[in-house]
Amino acid sequence: MALLQISEPGQTTAPHQHRLAVGIDLGTTNSLVASVRSGEAQTLPDSHGRHILPSVVRYAEDNIEVGDAAVEHAVVDPSNTIVSVKRLMGRAASDLKSLGKSSPYIFATSESMVPKIQTRSGDVSAVEVSAEILKTLKNRAVDTLGDELVGAVITVPAYFDDAQRQATKDAARLAGLNVLRLLNEPTAAAVAYGLDSGQEGIIAIYDLGGGTFDISILRLRKGVFEVLSTGGDSALGGDDFDHAIADWILQQSGYNQEPSSSLVRLLMKEARAAKEQLAAVDVVSISIEADNFSWQGSLSASQMRELIEPMIKKTIMACRRSLRDADIAVEDVLEVVMVGGSTRTLAVREMVGEFFQRDPLVSIDPDKVVAIGAALQADVLAGNKPDNAMLLLDVIPLSLGIETMGGLVEKIISRNTPIPVAKAQDFTTYKDGQTAMAVHVVQGERELVDDCRSLARFELRGFPPHVAGAARIRVTYQVDADGLLTVSAREQNSGVEASVDVKPSYGLTDTEIETMLRDSMDHATDDMRMRMLREQQVEAERVIEALDAALQSDGKELLSVQEQDTIAQAREQLVNAKAGDDTESIKSAIKQLESACADYVARRMNTNIRNAMQGHTVDEYAGNDQE
Ligand code: ADP
Ligand code: MG
Repeated sequence: MALLQISEPGQTTAPHQHRLAVGIDLGTTNSLVASVRSGEAQTLPDSHGRHILPSVVRYAEDNIEVGDAAVEHAVVDPSNTIVSVKRLMGRAASDLKSLGKSSPYIFATSESMVPKIQTRSGDVSAVEVSAEILKTLKNRAVDTLGDELVGAVITVPAYFDDAQRQATKDAARLAGLNVLRLLNEPTAAAVAYGLDSGQEGIIAIYDLGGGTFDISILRLRKGVFEVLSTGGDSALGGDDFDHAIADWILQQSGYNQEPSSSLVRLLMKEARAAKEQLAAVDVVSISIEADNFSWQGSLSASQMRELIEPMIKKTIMACRRSLRDADIAVEDVLEVVMVGGSTRTLAVREMVGEFFQRDPLVSIDPDKVVAIGAALQADVLAGNKPDNAMLLLDVIPLSLGIETMGGLVEKIISRNTPIPVAKAQDFTTYKDGQTAMAVHVVQGERELVDDCRSLARFELRGFPPHVAGAARIRVTYQVDADGLLTVSAREQNSGVEASVDVKPSYGLTDTEIETMLRDSMDHATDDMRMRMLREQQVEAERVIEALDAALQSDGKELLSVQEQDTIAQAREQLVNAKAGDDTESIKSAIKQLESACADYVARRMNTNIRNAMQGHTVDEYAGNDQE
């Protein structure tokens, strides 16, 4: 799971010509754009000097507002103001239920898998909303730097799956950006800190943003980062702190009605302001006036700590799990890098410091660190550093496999393989005369298809019929540098080909990935047993089918009624054993059926030989066997 450094050929440009490329941190809550200027990576401000662009888009009467303007109107126009759209990226309509209780949006009901939010300017998808954010950042870059933009590196959470990455790329394309690379956020943070030139050892990257939490355990060795494990929670962040504080305010105020969505927004806004102030002071006073609601009071840092501690504990548990996955003791962690605005909260810093038993690194602004790392990477990819060109390679988070007979999974690319990667494996047909093959692409660590996530299905059709096992179908899995998968299948003899870009319309959450990984460890022995059982069941099926086909063609001619009976009994026993779950009894039933059929098989062989000789060299042998 290494971040290897390799040079990319054909990227060198004339040394005097600096090609403009930017790094974009497209966050759930906040987004930033950064670029390398005069050798230094810096985030770019808007015309008011603001570096951080809130990831909020409002579809107003006659224009689209992005950022602070949209935030200001969120309270009065909640249903046309889209926040946290990143949570919807790459999600199917069917995933929305899990997205939470108090969504103020009205989702358009449509046939399409992609959910759309109803606004006064029509129905919009998450990709379109994100594109508005990216457009704003792109324009900012062009305005500030006044140059042509070669492209952008856009960061995504480490656990963004294929669909979510694809959606991010689509948004960039829609915004007119050339995507040089999607880069994992923790990887970008590591680059920003230039840790490759630091002391070698284990580094933990703790990223707590507004809506997501990511933990990555890296090992730095000989200037190369190896990612030992990653984990996190895609539904945990500073927003949840705001929720807890807003709930607390509501409780304190004694307000006993269901709050309207605009009151919820107002409370969230005030809660967030209080929380952010508490990074610097011990106590804040809060005063809220709205229609039908009024409250004044104060909140202390220690009161807030009590409210948010359960959530911080959740992140610590994920850290513990990631260390365990990486097989690293907490004492072996050399540095802890803090990323994300929520790591400004002192309680977070303290609890993380306590867990890792050292002071976390906070020297680079935790809001900007990801964008800065992305800018450094963009600069390299744009070809501005021909001498020192490095490409950071990420890894795939879950194994990619193919369904084989019996609902089993054959892994083609295993988890933690650095990308880009291409791997091929040959498969063959199961039945005589087969001219098509179904390819089912799955993701996960378990042995059975049912326990993994289905990514795509396609069919390879129209190759010439062969006897079972003679066709050679080469299936190739290719994952590009952005983590996107293409699968192709080719029948080697005929050259018939089919392929599919895997763009699933739904996504896996971090929690699902973690659960799948945990399950695969918990179930490793079960799975093994299950696999052996399935294999025997498939074998039994094959034996029965072959027998039935044979009996059909010449059973009556070659077997006496009694022999037919014996074979039928043995067959019956195998059918029964196959329906059960005892691998050994299936095995022995297969053996028994085989021995019951031994004579029959021999007779068939003779007949076949005779038939084969007919019309060929019959004369030569005629005297031997025939009367
Ligand atoms: P994301 O990566 O999800 O876009 P960011 O890293 O920009 O998020 O972090 C946004 C979160 O950081 C918000 O929840 C915001 O309230 C929080 N935040 C920003 N400044 C502070 C602060 N001074 N104290 C506590 N939280 C803060
Ligand atoms: Mg972030």
